[in-house]
Amino acid sequence: MNTGKTKNLGVMGWPIAHSLSPAMQQAAIEQAGIDYSYVALPVEPEKLPQAVEGLKALNFSGWNVTIPHKRAIMPLLDEIDEDAVIIGAVNTVVNREGQLKGYNTDMLGFLSPLQEKGVKLAGARALILGAGGAARAVLWGLLRSGVAAVTLAVRTPEKGESLAEEFRSRTEADISVCAFGSEDFRKAEAEADILVNTTPLGMTPKVEEAPPVDWDSVKASAFVYDIIYTPAETRFLREAREHGCAIQNGEAMLAGQGAAALALWTDIEPDAACMCHALRAELSKR
Ligand code: NAP
Repeated sequence: MNTGKTKNLGVMGWPIAHSLSPAMQQAAIEQAGIDYSYVALPVEPEKLPQAVEGLKALNFSGWNVTIPHKRAIMPLLDEIDEDAVIIGAVNTVVNREGQLKGYNTDMLGFLSPLQEKGVKLAGARALILGAGGAARAVLWGLLRSGVAAVTLAVRTPEKGESLAEEFRSRTEADISVCAFGSEDFRKAEAEADILVNTTPLGMTPKVEEAPPVDWDSVKASAFVYDIIYTPAETRFLREAREHGCAIQNGEAMLAGQGAAALALWTDIEPDAACMCHALRAELSKR
């Protein structure tokens, strides 16, 4: 029961009805036996400043931030963690006695299954497919993990080039950009030790779509990661698995970003497996 002692958490977005975070966070809160409550907070874009002030006035301990507020909330905060500044988006706010600090836990979520599986990133060559919002956390996570080279493969080279240019000053790794299907793309897919799909290609309902990877060129030893979580196995991952590659879907990233947020708000070590389980259970109902 939510009492006067209960600490409040939530997720703000617009729309928010389909968010998986309440089911996932509430499961971890119950598993840990802590007196917290996590709710969905529908916040229209033009009401964001009022909503932030309102949550502060209501003494919320913190909240997640999702589309369309991840960038817009940044000027409304007192402080922003350096990784979130570099990624250019905040997905978690912590309220410490009225001081609001923003974080980005998507990068930690992305890295968590790679660390768990012992995937060697230091010195590796990575190929990231897509250069949108999620690609920024993926790119920074890979660069921070010491990859030697990253190729961004895109359909709109100008967008990829502006992302690459922004990150070049922050790394000694080589960052290059190529168009899907180009000669440079063929070279990058053949050399990659890790391939990450950050495009929505293959996401439900368009499950027959996939990024244009020629699996015959890819090393069977490459690790293949799709950050999509519906379906659990995209066509991209199925083809990678059939080619002999180790694979990872986006469920652990989603659960991992939630676990990292809950760890920031509370003094517990969240049970990421429990969060992943709750996520799967919620997805199976939809
Ligand atoms: P986004 O900002 O819209 O970026 C999408 C990227 O994919 C852009 O580079 C876009 O290229 C490219 N793209 C889109 N449609 C394409 C197509 N038909 N062919 C080639 N490229 C295409 O989206 P996002 O927020 O980064 O999300 C991308 C995916 O990641 C979604 O499926 C989302 O569900 C998933 N995601 C998962 C997690 C997780 O926790 N597992 C977290 C965040 C996102 P243009 O710039 O040329 O349009």
